Amino acid sequence: MELPERFCARMKEMLGAQWGAFSEGFTEPPFRGVRLNPLKCTEDTLRESLPFPLTETPFSPLCFYGGGEKVGALPAHHAGMFYSQEPSAASAVTALGPLPGERILDLCAAPGGKATQIAGLLQGRGLLWANEVVRGRTGALLSNLERLGAQNAVVSCESPGRLCGAFEGWFDRVLVDAPCSGEGMFRRDPGAIGEWSAEHVAACAQRQGLILDCAAQAVKGGGVLVYSTCTFSYEENEGVCESFLRAHPEFSFEPIPVPFGRPALDGSPARRIFPMDGGEGHFVARFRRKGEEKREKAPFAGAAGGPARREAESLFAELFTGEMGPVGIFGDKVLLLPEGLPDFTGLHVLRAGAQLAERKGKRLEPAHGAFMAREKGACLGAADFPPESPELLGFLRGEEIAWEGRGYTAVCVNGVVTGFGKAAGGRLKNRYPKGLRLRV
Ligand code: SAM
Repeated sequence: MELPERFCARMKEMLGAQWGAFSEGFTEPPFRGVRLNPLKCTEDTLRESLPFPLTETPFSPLCFYGGGEKVGALPAHHAGMFYSQEPSAASAVTALGPLPGERILDLCAAPGGKATQIAGLLQGRGLLWANEVVRGRTGALLSNLERLGAQNAVVSCESPGRLCGAFEGWFDRVLVDAPCSGEGMFRRDPGAIGEWSAEHVAACAQRQGLILDCAAQAVKGGGVLVYSTCTFSYEENEGVCESFLRAHPEFSFEPIPVPFGRPALDGSPARRIFPMDGGEGHFVARFRRKGEEKREKAPFAGAAGGPARREAESLFAELFTGEMGPVGIFGDKVLLLPEGLPDFTGLHVLRAGAQLAERKGKRLEPAHGAFMAREKGACLGAADFPPESPELLGFLRGEEIAWEGRGYTAVCVNGVVTGFGKAAGGRLKNRYPKGLRLRV
């Protein structure tokens, strides 16, 4: 793997005696990781459902070494039991420390690695707002949040300026996992090496500063702002933080009490992770906003009532136990809304909550999203299979399978919902979305 000369010169200067260990790492395979999704299963269930062992990493109690290139085809992956992620990428959300009940903004969220980690830590309480400015990248974000069963999440496609301007001082914690020159991706994706230039690094640093300026607005008094990148350059890391704090005296650095990585190069309390620290590479800085003021917004006023709500309630009662909560009707889609949803008039919101149903003519057809966000015990019908079962693999390929039951039935892997079908006459008609089906 040929590394750019100027990149090597910078890294040699940065690493001194450790340059040898760093450059030798390019002859070794990259770290692979799996992050447990606590919304859908326990660590024991995940281990039982995977064909490879997991070993702990220092980056998060949810994050393990293990896996490989084909993990996306595993039934446990279809069921949202885990997210396949380079291990050190879990460090940013560990530094963010989201707590159940809080309002969290993930400003640069696609494809959703960190957003799904935040959703797992919120445990269904509070609100995750996941934003991605590039429209073409929002599909993966929507799909990953759905697969991992996040119901208390909003997905938007907005510029940082418009979104943060609409939410001044509203969020408890904001994550900026910024677009960067991606030097920490070089071992995994040699294609990224060709895009590297000193000019690109400088342009990234400028863009990162602008994104942070916007993000700062959205943090409440006393709230937390985390800045992370997957690159090594001083300019994009310590340099961006120094400029940010000069321009924003209302923020100060906060130590990150974690066992991973090493101190930042300028002695600030940010953390750096190199491949010698057990991950591909990350930089994480945590700031706290001074003051105590938390701004409020009007709540979302568009929840359905009357006959529309009763129709949704009747479908919900056919599928699940428990209370339905508020629903919203957006075109032909019926959504189970997140708690504490604010008014989002004028913003480009792609989804709020989990989809309960889609209107087909006069009928409401149940949707995949609501099943993915339910435990097996909350589904009125359930068919449960081990991961290697031929019926389950047939279901994931989109086939009709044998099942003695009646009505809408969740299909589960080791007790974890991965989709649904409709049972009648000893068969289960397949409702697994076409775009998600196994192709083997
Ligand atoms: N947080 C994501 C995850 O964990 O899966 C990865 C985010 S990636 C490092 C940075 C994201 O920022 C990309 O999805 C990119 O499209 C987006 N982005 C690019 N330009 C941006 C801008 N000017 N403002 C905000 N986000 C931008």
